[in-house]
Amino acid sequence: MYFSKLSNIINDINTVLLPRLCFGCNAQLYRGEQLLCTLCRNQIPLTEYNFIEENAVDKIFYGRIDIKKASAFLFYSDQGLAKNLIHYLKYKNQPQIGQFLGNWYGQVLKDRNALNYIDIVIPVPLHKKRLKKRGYNQVSGFAQRIADHLNASYMEHILIKTANTRTQTKKNRLYRWRGMPDLYKVTHPEILCNKNVLLIDDVITTGATIEACARAIKKVKDVSVSVAAMAVVP
Ligand SMILES: [Zn+2]
Repeated sequence: MYFSKLSNIINDINTVLLPRLCFGCNAQLYRGEQLLCTLCRNQIPLTEYNFIEENAVDKIFYGRIDIKKASAFLFYSDQGLAKNLIHYLKYKNQPQIGQFLGNWYGQVLKDRNALNYIDIVIPVPLHKKRLKKRGYNQVSGFAQRIADHLNASYMEHILIKTANTRTQTKKNRLYRWRGMPDLYKVTHPEILCNKNVLLIDDVITTGATIEACARAIKKVKDVSVSVAAMAVVP
């Protein structure tokens, strides 16, 4: 009791000396608030896709590749909360944002009993040079937490990126890697045989990265691929 009161007091002193700020709106966070203020937490643009009806993320892959189920947690817009959060996660050394979103989405998936068939969770990989530069894969924490909630295995290095190209961000670059059939590669195909895989990414725009990863995974015999992303561009 005494210690918890003391730690609350220390936290409050810290809040005054080193204010913690909301990653959504930069407002000061109060005791009990983590990463997002209460207002942002209530305004975060959840897709609320229900895993029964087909959604906009499923439709991105129609006619391109057979994805069992695709979904995303948030809507991504140019001046939105999802953009701010993912920007801090990717470029400002804030990997805890991925864990925070993964805990939240993982709980939603568990509560809805969606994706309970998943055996293995795999993050979209970074090339090793980019990984070294950033220090972490921005999708890892999110993917790990989702795997925990789904009681699935998390496998970080079973899918690798073989060349240090950007995908998806610029359309003209899209064509360049389309000529590279082995941009992504499964390192131990036997582990994925007969398994239901959940592939995890940060933001789905054109779906090009997911498509390339799923193609690599689907070379394995009797494997299914589902997709979950932090956000989708509507
Ligand atoms: Zn806020």
